[in-house]
Amino acid sequence: MAKKQFKAESKRLLGLMINSIYTNKEIFLRELISNASDALDKRHYLSLTDPSKKIDQSDLKITLTIDKENRQLIIEDTGIGMTAEEMEKNLGTIAKSGSAEFRAQLEKAENNIDIIGQFGVGFYSAFMVADKITVESLSVNGGPAHTWVSSGEDGYTINESERDAVGTKITLSLKEDTDDEKYSEYLEEYKIKDLVRKYSDYVRYPIQMEVTKSIPDPTDEKKTIDTKEMETLNSMIPLWKKPKSEIKPEEYNEFYKAKYMDWEDPARVMHYSVEGNLSYTALMFIPGRTPYDFYYQTYESGLQLYSKGVFILDKAKDLLPDHFRFVTGLIDSDDLNLNISREILQQDRQVKMLARSIEKKIQSSLEDMLKDERENYEKFFDNFGLNLKYGIYKDYGINKNKLQDLILFHSSKEGKYVTLKEYVERMPADQKEIYYACGSSAEEIEKLPVMSRIRDKGYEVLYFLDERDEFCTQIMRDYDGKPFKSVTAGDLDLDSAEEKKEKEEKAEANKDMLSAMKDALDGKVKDVRISSRLKDDPVCIVADEGLSLEMERYMANDPMAKGQGMKAVKILEINPDHPVFAKLQAMNTENPDRLKDYTDVLYNQALLIAGLPIEDPAAYARKITELMIRSN
Ligand code: ADP
Ligand code: MG
Repeated sequence: MAKKQFKAESKRLLGLMINSIYTNKEIFLRELISNASDALDKRHYLSLTDPSKKIDQSDLKITLTIDKENRQLIIEDTGIGMTAEEMEKNLGTIAKSGSAEFRAQLEKAENNIDIIGQFGVGFYSAFMVADKITVESLSVNGGPAHTWVSSGEDGYTINESERDAVGTKITLSLKEDTDDEKYSEYLEEYKIKDLVRKYSDYVRYPIQMEVTKSIPDPTDEKKTIDTKEMETLNSMIPLWKKPKSEIKPEEYNEFYKAKYMDWEDPARVMHYSVEGNLSYTALMFIPGRTPYDFYYQTYESGLQLYSKGVFILDKAKDLLPDHFRFVTGLIDSDDLNLNISREILQQDRQVKMLARSIEKKIQSSLEDMLKDERENYEKFFDNFGLNLKYGIYKDYGINKNKLQDLILFHSSKEGKYVTLKEYVERMPADQKEIYYACGSSAEEIEKLPVMSRIRDKGYEVLYFLDERDEFCTQIMRDYDGKPFKSVTAGDLDLDSAEEKKEKEEKAEANKDMLSAMKDALDGKVKDVRISSRLKDDPVCIVADEGLSLEMERYMANDPMAKGQGMKAVKILEINPDHPVFAKLQAMNTENPDRLKDYTDVLYNQALLIAGLPIEDPAAYARKITELMIRSN
């Protein structure tokens, strides 16, 4: 076959590998072994489900061979193999699975070689150590066998070849040593043993290599002779089958990173076994960071499913509730049928039970984390809190009770995260409601006119910095019997009985003026009233019960909702203790026309403070200018 070219982005990745000065090149072996192990998984599964493809368990293995003379390292497996088309498809382009993010990062960080080791970059990583790679393979689905050869960026060839064993043999012709890089190390037994133990110990198939052993010379006791002996280098016990007490944290971390394509340690490891009606072992992880596409359609969540140690399904979605879809990992159950498919998975009663049990475990694990590792939890919340909030308001709040204690808010106290439980526990005795304010930043909220009075009363205000916060509380309605209350909406009951009485009298005395102002605003507000929430500022806009100002603002900025004209019902409140109030009173009797102008200006000011657009900025500016001229 004539030489074929790699796809453009594969070529870039390849170039990056070939010229890599990345120091951790040794990960190439982990990648090739992991591919071999995947191929063996597939063959094993086939053998159990298709009688015509039966194979002895003992024949499933990986063999490593060192050929010092030819500077070659050979990795051979008895896995599922590849046809010519599969070679073309799988080795000619970057594989989809782990490399999508790598690709995205590659676009961003051109020569950042550090990203290499951070990803499971798969097959191509072998080009970090080899200047020529040969892949011979025979598919379990029939021959002929084919050989794929590439020396890097100038392309590859695929030709028919002789091979009678199903499986794949990868031969790496190692690069020449340089001053900085000793590729011949990978021809040393001890090095290969080390690498297998370090990265691939848990692989469930034997990784074998012929090793040199010194044994006593039968003819001369004082001497030893070297013999060759096949040795299994890995312990083969899947990590999740080992007792927890025997597993070091680094082992979990390495396992997670190698298997789930991440470069950061997980934020939390959940490893447990359940015995009973449905027995299973789970090894699950919460990633230490948000996957770049977590909130996009392309993100695939789910757990791997094993039955009696046999891999059955990748990304089994039905095992995880949506609100915990950030969890990755695997479930191994002895009680599940091997022939279970994605379709069956959806309806299976056992699977539903399994999913419920998993959900409970994740939930209590998160609760423990919140209790015992606050800092770690807050970081987790920064990464995935959005998803928990989404879980609260999704499906009309069906899961709200499970999730409400897992969400965090910033607040006016201490500038730290607070849970609803903590908030309620430290509420002053006279406080009946849970106060919140919406805004795009803490600073913005702190500047709200209403905040100074609330501060004086010693009340804490939750900062809703994310639109979803208010969606959540609308679904929740209350927490622990305490309703949520926006400090900028409806009646805010901050006054003592005495103050209330005083205000009522004031409202009565100024009835004329208030209704003149309301008329002046000509339907823009539902009411003009004396405020009990203001201290330093003259006016503010509040929303009546119903759609809040924040929602209105959110809708105004949201391209999807724009133009639908959803508006909060507004009320203009004036501060009776502000000097402007006396001025208005005077105008009401002496100069009703001017009262109209002032009302209009104050109304627009209140809108601006609330972060809402004013209807006619030009007219507003004109009026301000007139007032400036007049006052001189
Ligand atoms: P990934 O493992 O993330 O899919 P890789 O670059 O490691 O990406 O491998 C690309 C693809 O090549 C694999 O998905 C698989 O289909 C195929 N492949 C690689 N090595 C083998 C192997 N030893 N046996 C069978 N197929 C293989
Ligand atoms: Mg791979």
